[in-house]
Amino acid sequence: MTELKENAPVLDVRNVSKIFNIPTPGFERQYIAAVDQVSLILQEKPAKIVSLVGESGSGKTTLARIMLGLTPPTRGEVLYKGKQVAELNKEEWWDFRRNVQPIFQDPFGIYNPFYRVDRALDITIKNFGLASSNDEIYALKAEALRAVDLRPDDVIGRYPHQLSGGQCQRVMLARTLLLRPKIIVADEPVSMIDVAVRMLFLNILLDFRDKYDISSLMITHDLATAYYMGGPMVVLCFGRAVESGDIMQLLNNPAHPYTQQLLAAIPTPDPTQRWETRANVKITDRPLTHEGKKCVYAARCPYAMPICSQQRPPDYIVEEGHYVACFLHQDKPKVSEVMMSAKATRRAEKVARTHGED
Ligand code: SF4
Repeated sequence: MTELKENAPVLDVRNVSKIFNIPTPGFERQYIAAVDQVSLILQEKPAKIVSLVGESGSGKTTLARIMLGLTPPTRGEVLYKGKQVAELNKEEWWDFRRNVQPIFQDPFGIYNPFYRVDRALDITIKNFGLASSNDEIYALKAEALRAVDLRPDDVIGRYPHQLSGGQCQRVMLARTLLLRPKIIVADEPVSMIDVAVRMLFLNILLDFRDKYDISSLMITHDLATAYYMGGPMVVLCFGRAVESGDIMQLLNNPAHPYTQQLLAAIPTPDPTQRWETRANVKITDRPLTHEGKKCVYAARCPYAMPICSQQRPPDYIVEEGHYVACFLHQDKPKVSEVMMSAKATRRAEKVARTHGED
């Protein structure tokens, strides 16, 4: 049986798909690919914040749930330290739960309104055996709360309705920090809290990265949030990763028409540049899986060509570290071909070394 490998990536998402069967009035079944062959690696070091950006219904939350081991993928695999999450034994599952921590969107939905909010911290400390006396428990809680810019006296002993959404969300960050995880999967963590405290929350995640080496997957529909966090970004469109690279590469040189549309939708804070024309956006239904052999964006894309409705676009290399799945970039090298030739080179080097040793 495979063991956990400490030098393997903490989370390695390989070609993961999630297909949902949607009931219809007739006998015909409809299948929707919420996530369609997505791959993603989250390493322990160097700690990074990876942004996963897409509109509502693009499959972000489904992908987050798959990565957290809450939803099994239909195809593909999620490896934790080199071992499939579905095959983790009890001990390894605890290790996974400690090192891969979620932060959900609704700051109130995760608390039981009948219990004090710091109960979430108490349970974590107890379940993971982090302290052995009441004094130690209080000291740990207070330290974690201060690290997320909360005063312990303002939080300990309070009920959820006595705190703001931003405070509740930061208590969740404090709970996470108690465990010193390697990865935080944060699903739209700031979309339901006041604009004024959003930046504070994001700064805490940046602090976690810099002070405690904690990486995060920041799932958001908001490009401005991704820009603030910096680092790598993946654009998800109808369940597919259509473009990825460093955020500055994508903002300065967006290669996929969908990314270009997302950027064009950001209002310019300049009164001299008024919106005089409406954005030309076609609203279309989500493509079904039986159409999976074409570009998911074809129905909306202003540059669609015949090939876009006949084949699934492969990933092309726009520049180093910047990839796009779009036929507009057919003149660029394909990722699969570059990987094959790199593999062939490595194989040839190995053979040459072996013969040299002989
Ligand atoms: Fe548009 Fe074709 Fe590119 Fe899809 S592959 S985004 S339809 S140009």
